[in-house]
Amino acid sequence: LRSARSRTTCCATRCALSLGGLNRFDPKTGLFTAITHQDGIPGNLIVGITGDASGHLWLSTNDGLCRVNPRTKAIQSYQVSDGLPSNNFKQNAVFRHGNQLIFGSENVIVQFDPDQIRDDKRPFPVYITGLTVLDRPRKITGNVIRLPHNENFLSIAFAALAYDQPRKNQYAYQLVGINRDWVQNGNRPVANFTSLPPGHYTFRVKAANSNGFWSPHVASIDLIIQPPWWATWWAYALYGLLAGGAIWGYIRFSTNRIRQRQELRLNRRQAEQLKAVDELKTRFFSNITHEFRTPLSLIIAPVEKLLQEGRFDGPMLRLIRQNAEQLLRLINQLLDIAKLEGHYMTVSPMQGQVGDFIRQIVAVFQRPAEQKCITLTGPMDHLPAHEHIFDADKWEKILTNLLANALKFTGAGGTITLTAEPVWIDEEMTEVQFQLADSGIGIATQHLPHIFDRFYQADTSTTRAHEGTGLGLALVHELIQLLGGRISVESEVGTGTRFYWTLPVRPVAHTGDFPRISETRFQQPANDPRTPPESTPQTNPIGEQPFPSRILIVEDNEELRAFLVSELATTYHILQAVDGQQGWEVAQAELPDIVLTDVMMPRMDGHELSRLIKGHADTDHIAVVMLTAKTAQPSRLQGLQDGADDYLHKPFSMTELRLRLQNLLNRQQRLREHYQEQFSISPVPFAAAAVTHPFLERIYELMDERLDDPQLSVEWLADQLAMSRRTLHRKVISLTPWVPGELIRQYRIRKAAGLLQAGHTVAETADRVGFNTPSHFTTVFKEVYQQTPTEFTANLPNNP
Ligand code: ADP
Repeated sequence: LRSARSRTTCCATRCALSLGGLNRFDPKTGLFTAITHQDGIPGNLIVGITGDASGHLWLSTNDGLCRVNPRTKAIQSYQVSDGLPSNNFKQNAVFRHGNQLIFGSENVIVQFDPDQIRDDKRPFPVYITGLTVLDRPRKITGNVIRLPHNENFLSIAFAALAYDQPRKNQYAYQLVGINRDWVQNGNRPVANFTSLPPGHYTFRVKAANSNGFWSPHVASIDLIIQPPWWATWWAYALYGLLAGGAIWGYIRFSTNRIRQRQELRLNRRQAEQLKAVDELKTRFFSNITHEFRTPLSLIIAPVEKLLQEGRFDGPMLRLIRQNAEQLLRLINQLLDIAKLEGHYMTVSPMQGQVGDFIRQIVAVFQRPAEQKCITLTGPMDHLPAHEHIFDADKWEKILTNLLANALKFTGAGGTITLTAEPVWIDEEMTEVQFQLADSGIGIATQHLPHIFDRFYQADTSTTRAHEGTGLGLALVHELIQLLGGRISVESEVGTGTRFYWTLPVRPVAHTGDFPRISETRFQQPANDPRTPPESTPQTNPIGEQPFPSRILIVEDNEELRAFLVSELATTYHILQAVDGQQGWEVAQAELPDIVLTDVMMPRMDGHELSRLIKGHADTDHIAVVMLTAKTAQPSRLQGLQDGADDYLHKPFSMTELRLRLQNLLNRQQRLREHYQEQFSISPVPFAAAAVTHPFLERIYELMDERLDDPQLSVEWLADQLAMSRRTLHRKVISLTPWVPGELIRQYRIRKAAGLLQAGHTVAETADRVGFNTPSHFTTVFKEVYQQTPTEFTANLPNNP
């Protein structure tokens, strides 16, 4: 008893009895842990406490007895329902005697041997008894539950077949795939699961009876939450396939693109190479033909002189001249074709009387026609007597080629008739309609569509007897196209051929400054009908302009000067001076396009000359090329400082000099085109401020002052600019493609376009830009922009 008491006391030191259940004190940490009614102690008021031999604590309470395992905290309670005589035990009424524990209750003493109390350890089964999905009961069939992905809220009910005290049965479950361990579920016979992801699971449940004995039986069922269709394996396979396809497609697409890009680059490079080769060919062709022209001219000129002197055998010399001229003509044709091909051929308007001009050409062919006993007539009575603007050079090439063909393919006794009829619009001749009929051999129908092709010859035995290259008609066709005309042909073998063509002309009004057709143009005796008249202006080889480019050669060495003159005279109009002083005088008087000057000269050297030219408003547009023997750097720098545009050192190659001159001329031409472009109609109103050249800017300002004055003239402009009319003329044509008169006209019309755009009426606009009558304004406007002012206004983008 003592020992039991001491043990009890000992225990009481560690475990306190209180209303809040059993408290355990840990002296190491100084903390209490409580076991209460909630943990299974039957009453909350513990009245007695003792231990037994197997280390259990026995507690008596106001509502029964209980056994606590201090290690596992397992509690087994006993009450009246378990066979106790009373539940209400008394304070401190506890006693241990040997193996016997004795507790005092209200009216009875309870005595028992704790070792004699046997727990029920018979195994019992556990069953899964019900399933609820989305709060609705489901029947379980078989050993597998299959649920679609959106029915993943479920409860599983189960039951243990331990009937001792079923309410005290304990359960633990595990959803394999979700829970790593068993989940203690207390005495609740149901497990809830929410938002289960698709997958395979196994639900297992086990149970313990009221004695806390866990039955070895475990109930289980498989649970399959099916994935949605877009998460099934075949959907994933499809995604894989699609992704694979996309990657494959992308790779194919990008390799294709790379290949295409490479091909494009290759093509472009090939095209560039071809273009370069083509340019080289054209340049070579152009150079070589030029090289032919010089010696030919040098043959023809002395032969001509010998013929005039009459000292040698006439027929022989004439034969030489005739053949040299034929060669020259051919080379000129080739050059023209090359120019047309490279789009270098431009229209060069001149002023003259159309009827006279045509009559003179026909006259050249009169003598050879008579020699062949052919009647050549050219009635031109309907053409007006006043002058017009037209490209005389190209008209001449067209007419001579066609007339020469007619003469070549018409036999003795035949007739050739050229007629030219004017086409009138508003009492103004706008076009000339030509007809050239011969009674020659004619052209077979199958050849007709091809005769305007290059190098095409109707290859019959008769025509083969005639010399030719097949270039003439091709050139005629292309020239007519360039001038804006049309050509057609009718022919019948044995009867004759008729060519019809039209060529446009422009009235002289406002354009009084075009070069006049030379009176001496056709004075040379025509032995060969197709000989180009000698006074044909030498045009520059690339950009054909209204005037041949003029080059002033300033060189004190007589031989070198003569050499330069002879070399360049075939291409340009040449002026000469023996030193800087004279060079300056000529430059001021003649205003050439380029001054080619030596550096070291008496009286005034090249540097000084260059400084003077670049320092004067009248001459500052002239390009200067210096020829220097000094190759040292300072001299080059000096040359460039003095404003020289280019320089060459001696000895220089003629080809290089030509190229450099041509480059400078091309640059001037581009500048001209640039200033011309400002006159094309664009949505932006024309602003004189946009013109960067100070001289042009000044001219535009002056014109703005008096634009409404029909009398605004070139003379007035020259006066205002303190220049001679001639200087103004040369200066304007060096900067623009036009002579001053034409510049005024173009300016008026460009301004008019702006006014029309701004919503002014035609009459108002005509008045503002200095036209006396709207009808005259309309005519001129149409000439410039190929549409009438009314059409122009109607075509404006903001017009409905
Ligand atoms: P060619 O230098 O050979 O005269 P063209 O281009 O001038 O070259 O003429 C091409 C071809 O057209 C000639 O070869 C000729 O067969 C034919 N042809 C041209 N004009 C006439 C004409 N008036 N009568 C007959 N055939 C002509």
